Amino acid sequence: MGSRRDCTWILGLPGFRVESIVGNDAATSRLSVRIERLGRRYPCGGCGRRTGRVRSTKERTWDDLPWAAHPVTLVYRQRRVDCRRCGIRIERVEFADAKARVTRRLRQQIGVDCQSMPTSHAAVRHGVSWGKARRAEKAFLGDWDRRRITRQPRHIGLDEIHRGKGQRFWSVLSDVVHGEVMDLRQDRSEATATALLTEALTARQRGAITAVCTDMHRPYLNAVGAVLPRAETVFDKFHVLQHASAALDEVRRQEFFRAGAIMREHGRGKRWLLLRRWKTVRGSKRRELQALFTANRRLFKAYVLREQIDRLWTYKTRPGVLNFLNGWINALRWQRLPEMERLGEFLFRHIDGIAAYCDHPVRFGVVESINTTIKAVLRRARGMRDERMRLLKLKWATAHPIRSARDLAAFLTAQPQYSN
Ligand SMILES: [Zn+2]
Repeated sequence: MGSRRDCTWILGLPGFRVESIVGNDAATSRLSVRIERLGRRYPCGGCGRRTGRVRSTKERTWDDLPWAAHPVTLVYRQRRVDCRRCGIRIERVEFADAKARVTRRLRQQIGVDCQSMPTSHAAVRHGVSWGKARRAEKAFLGDWDRRRITRQPRHIGLDEIHRGKGQRFWSVLSDVVHGEVMDLRQDRSEATATALLTEALTARQRGAITAVCTDMHRPYLNAVGAVLPRAETVFDKFHVLQHASAALDEVRRQEFFRAGAIMREHGRGKRWLLLRRWKTVRGSKRRELQALFTANRRLFKAYVLREQIDRLWTYKTRPGVLNFLNGWINALRWQRLPEMERLGEFLFRHIDGIAAYCDHPVRFGVVESINTTIKAVLRRARGMRDERMRLLKLKWATAHPIRSARDLAAFLTAQPQYSN
């Protein structure tokens, strides 16, 4: 074994030196690294002031980063000190949080790893139990969340996420400017939405909001109207387009399935093809679609009308949007497409929330990408009971704070944080 001085240098815990290292001959044996504080004055666990008045000592261990293939356990005789200000306190150790069983640097490693692999995998990788890894991850995420600056987004999103069997809904509040989840609650009632808007946002944050992007769910609209009377509601484009696709699908059913066996055979298996957007259909599929339209002109008309709805979000002024919608509805005349007419009425009823996009260009793509990420995280965390943990994981996944080597280094060398 090298000199103790070399070992102290390799261990790299400021203020501590290595006393001895114990392990057996196996290439992957666990090392017990006994360390001792430099000097005879010990910081108080309450205020941090150093004192030499020691009452008793107790041996404690912490798991630490491995040395090559050897997992490492640090062994240290922690003092109980008699502080002039605080009384009898446990000595503060700088390399770990109070009560933690792993060092802070190992906690950071586990925490970062857990964001890209299952907890069980990260636990095996770092030679700790599943419970230790999970607690480390939670402390890591909590620490990250506490240190973040509170943002005041202009646009927020209030959306429902449908998960699992038996109508389980979640209401999600998100910052759609930066693309991050802010809070999450089970259920999608007006009370839940109101609680989200009042409890998850500070008064300052509420004051900064100019627009809320949401779907046409009535309880949400009521909650937004009551809590944020000055913010405008912008309807989520993808929800509106979903209604348009449903109308188109109804036309397909009407034209093929209720029109006899020959037509039915023609339209079989074309549902997903028909619901796709023209610009995403290529090659032979495009020809298939064209054949379908040759067989039925009304379906073609309905398809074209659906494609045009996109233009609702291209106008700069509200009269422009209204003009376009009027033109769209006029084009329906004499077409005998009752489903599309109903869609037109629906769009007309919700024109305020659609046209509000002119003044508040919410980033719909961000809204969509948040929803996709949430679904992926919830699917992976299906067994997770801990609500706070679930929220922290969602926040991390949508904020993705590690984008460069420098970000990663900042996380792995996070500085200790004390309450005083
Ligand atoms: Zn003290």
